[in-house]
Amino acid sequence: MRVSLADAIALLKRGEVVAIPTETVYGLAGDAQNESALHKIYATKQRPANNPLIVHIASAAQVDDFASEFPPLAQKLGLAFWPGPFTLVLKAKPTVSTVVRAGEPTVALRVPAHPLTLQLLQESGLALAAPSANRYTQLSPTTAAHVESSLGQDIPVLDGGACQVGIESTIVSVDGDTWQLLRHGMITQAQIEAIAGKPALAHAMATPKAPGQHLLHYSPRTPTQLFDEYIELQKYAQTHQDCATLLIGNVTTNLNSGFQHCIALSDTPAEVAEHLYESLHKLDQLQASTILIFLPPNLPEWAAIRDRLTRAGYRENF
Ligand code: AMP
Ligand code: MG
Repeated sequence: MRVSLADAIALLKRGEVVAIPTETVYGLAGDAQNESALHKIYATKQRPANNPLIVHIASAAQVDDFASEFPPLAQKLGLAFWPGPFTLVLKAKPTVSTVVRAGEPTVALRVPAHPLTLQLLQESGLALAAPSANRYTQLSPTTAAHVESSLGQDIPVLDGGACQVGIESTIVSVDGDTWQLLRHGMITQAQIEAIAGKPALAHAMATPKAPGQHLLHYSPRTPTQLFDEYIELQKYAQTHQDCATLLIGNVTTNLNSGFQHCIALSDTPAEVAEHLYESLHKLDQLQASTILIFLPPNLPEWAAIRDRLTRAGYRENF
């Protein structure tokens, strides 16, 4: 159900949840200070309660409402990347609901760059907890229609068009004068390093600190096979019926002409990110036997896209 900005504000103030556009993916928003709204987010998504939510704020001036410390390093990063697809995990004030931070001593904060959602944050005066507006482990939504097909037609959606960044924010935790990368995103590790003036502390991705790092995440319903070698993908397609294919990186048309259901994306990371979930949603709807994905090269600029695709392709133990 599409709602106006005024309706979205009224619903959120009453403690209801509303799907909202951001530049990354659509979020399922609720008042970050209202525990009943927060419980509705977890219940609607069927998300485990140990997986914390990102709190969306209108500007860096609101960080102090949630974080007990806003170290100079974090301020520098906020200044450089906000509004934008960048989340800071900081020490939480004791007054921050344990529901939104899933019992962690930290809170995740982001100023999103979508104009409609910035207006919503400013006019409502609320801070909004908003994980992706899909059921847990499913593909993230980048259009209002994706939200409705995952969460049902009754979910109120503020339609802000298709998301321009297209994949979830980069997550960085800052503790004093050190930082760690918790989730890859389109703000790259190199960009963060350049602003921070120093490298990240090593091995952060391996810690259980960011439960969004659950391996079966961002998955289509159709089984998925990932390929680093194009020739291997071709062999697989020849011996398996009814495959759908996602090619990344300007694979020449004469090579992909043999595929029945094929989406070919460019060799530009930002363009691929923008269309990644939309492409996977489309291929998923074909009810193919398998989705075959030709991965982009294992280079830093493709880290976020390879991360999401690796999770989409994770099937072990399931
Ligand atoms: P989603 O919005 O669905 O992409 O999920 C938000 C993700 O943000 C979570 O799954 C965590 O990975 C991360 N996150 C949120 N809050 C925290 C926190 N306090 N500490 C570490 N990671 C967090
Ligand atoms: Mg999600």
